Amino acid sequence: MCRSPIDGRPQIFASTALQIRVAKMTKVSSLPADDASCGWFHLSPARQPRPSHSGTRKARWVVVGAGFTGLAAARQLALNFPDEEIVLIEAQQVGYGSSGRNAGFAIDLPHDIGADDYIGDIATAKTSLKLNLTGQGILKDLVEQHRIDCQMRPAGKYQAAIEERGVAVLDAYRRGLDKLGQAYEMVEEKQLPEHIGTHFYKKALFTPGTLLIQPAALVKGLADSLPKNVTLYERTPITEVEYGDKTVLGHRNGKIIADKLVLTNNAFGMSFGFLKGSMLPVFTYASLTRPLTADEQARLGGKPYWGVIPADPFGTTLRRTVDNRILVRNSFSFNPDGRSQPKYLERFVKRHRESFERRFPMLQGVDFEYTWGGALSLARNHLSQFGLLAPNVYGALCCNGLGVTRGTVTGTLLADWLAGERNDLIEFLLSSPGPNRNPPEPLLSLGVNLNLMWGQHRAGKES
Ligand SMILES: Cc1cc2nc3c(=O)[nH]c(=O)nc-3n(C[C@H](O)[C@H](O)[C@H](O)COP(=O)(O)OP(=O)(O)OC[C@H]3O[C@@H](n4cnc5c(N)ncnc54)[C@H](O)[C@@H]3O)c2cc1C
Repeated sequence: MCRSPIDGRPQIFASTALQIRVAKMTKVSSLPADDASCGWFHLSPARQPRPSHSGTRKARWVVVGAGFTGLAAARQLALNFPDEEIVLIEAQQVGYGSSGRNAGFAIDLPHDIGADDYIGDIATAKTSLKLNLTGQGILKDLVEQHRIDCQMRPAGKYQAAIEERGVAVLDAYRRGLDKLGQAYEMVEEKQLPEHIGTHFYKKALFTPGTLLIQPAALVKGLADSLPKNVTLYERTPITEVEYGDKTVLGHRNGKIIADKLVLTNNAFGMSFGFLKGSMLPVFTYASLTRPLTADEQARLGGKPYWGVIPADPFGTTLRRTVDNRILVRNSFSFNPDGRSQPKYLERFVKRHRESFERRFPMLQGVDFEYTWGGALSLARNHLSQFGLLAPNVYGALCCNGLGVTRGTVTGTLLADWLAGERNDLIEFLLSSPGPNRNPPEPLLSLGVNLNLMWGQHRAGKES
């Protein structure tokens, strides 16, 4: 029988997928292997990674995965339990994983792609908004408090459409935002170049609440400002786990024995025996140009920095960064083991080039300096996992592509729940049935790949 970490009462597993018992000894079936070419990582302030672990160590709390979710969970555990030691373990360097290689939109608004108006059930949307705003607030405060130099700007975001189908999405989302009482501005084709330079789009829905960040700079700064009772070990991939009264985490040079284990390693949670066949490691790709010259900036026009997301989820995300580079993100691949594959970088950089040239004919000759990929952890029902995974094992997993704010708030709230806190947000997260189960292989890969191909084809000019 599994008991609540708070009051010791018997507890039912949150998701039926989790009723499957985890094997006592689990070989971690796949380890992260991101490519070495992420622009954000190389352009953010260099730091000395914390030493990897060797030998044997015991700890009350061990958190695995130092992305937004794990950094937030470790920080909050340290604040909630100031007399206890928290160990945070990261397989790569902080900033090298998905948290450092995303497009850098810390988004406030809910966006339920399963609903006609993208808002859906209003009570759920309100809670989702509150969660995202809480995550944003935590990040804003930490950036200010620790003076983290991560180009954070309250720039809002443009959701832009080229084709009629995309314009219909914007209209539907506008109706949803009315229902939710959120501010927006519709920007018409003629006015758009004053905002984002390019004449490419027909219409955009501007919402003011998004913060834009340099993601690798932010996570590096978060790692370097952790409370004193957190020990971070980088470049320490956990390769095997033995579950029991205590959890033994094995790696190449030793082991760490945890009273309580917190998993914040997104889709790699499956490699630890949880939610197997429920999360989808889908990669998406980005390129970053060299800085624009003063002349190129003048030819581009528009505001000094901005972010555009596509009306079609398979379309192209764009940013003009604070240091005057253009970021292009599009294209997807399904990498079931969660590891990057060089063939996709070669293929998708060409697509980035085409998307860039269609949008910025005035920027001919502006090369990409970096192209990289990174994993999203998606669930077919768009739900996340929060809470108990097995006796003394807890998790906040499956960020569904919105991990900057969501990962931050769920990591924080998981640590609060573990300290006995109860509130409406925690209740909401605990009540989620979690990611649903996928069909078995080879049907799964076939289905996901067909879906990705069809989606990218259907995106047409939006890509
Ligand atoms: C190109 C791209 C663009 C994106 N754009 C956005 C965006 O604009 N806004 C947004 O909100 N989200 C965006 N995302 C998604 C966002 O990056 C993720 O949702 C977020 O990183 C999830 O954070 P996390 O901390 O839960 O997981 P992760 O960032 O994946 O962190 C998990 C960590 O666990 C570590 N780990 C895994 N296995 C082990 C092991 N065995 N031992 C030790 N450590 C392990 C990994 O190395 C990793 O660092 C984007 C993603 C990509 C790839």
